[in-house]
Amino acid sequence: MNDSIFDPHAQISNADLKIIASLERLGEGFRVLLWEKAKVLGISPIQIQILIFVQFHGDEKCKVTYLAQEFNLTKPTISEAVKSLEQKGFIERRAESSDSRSHTLHLTEAGNSAVAQTVHFANPMLGSLAKIPFTEKGRLLEQLLDVIAHLQRAGIISVQRMCFSCRFYQKNGEGHFCQFLNKSLITNELRVDCGEFEVAE
Ligand code: SF4
Repeated sequence: MNDSIFDPHAQISNADLKIIASLERLGEGFRVLLWEKAKVLGISPIQIQILIFVQFHGDEKCKVTYLAQEFNLTKPTISEAVKSLEQKGFIERRAESSDSRSHTLHLTEAGNSAVAQTVHFANPMLGSLAKIPFTEKGRLLEQLLDVIAHLQRAGIISVQRMCFSCRFYQKNGEGHFCQFLNKSLITNELRVDCGEFEVAE
């Protein structure tokens, strides 16, 4: 039987187990900070995530189907969260001019105010990176993107809008090149959530 990531004895001599366990701990920090904001505002963590997502992404992504993929949840779960946000006055649906059956989500004034109160919820985690030198941060980013790309290829997480999944990305020797921006990217410039991203074939 394979060792469990959560078995402290198995972890002792296995760096792979410890790395994945560490990522799980980071995710826990994210969840704790999100819950703190959710309690203050009286809305659920996923509702906060939806509001923040809508703030920073274009209409084509602010739809129930896209959000379900984004957060790896079912459409009914996202629909329920969106309905609650509408009832609370944080979000409104607008029919698309090209197809009145399709709706995009938009923040109301109250929604913008809720985002202003929550959008920095994960920032306390930034301090943990303060001692890592610039070039090592780039290397860490590159390795994390590699891990995410692998999880995506394995079907564990949905498509990510990052360089390693993008049709404009080219490996350039040991470096990276973006065909959209028409420039080489140093590792620190690799993107996790890129507005110009288009999924690779
Ligand atoms: S378009 Fe964006 S995601 Fe795609 S390679 Fe360029 S910078 Fe990376």
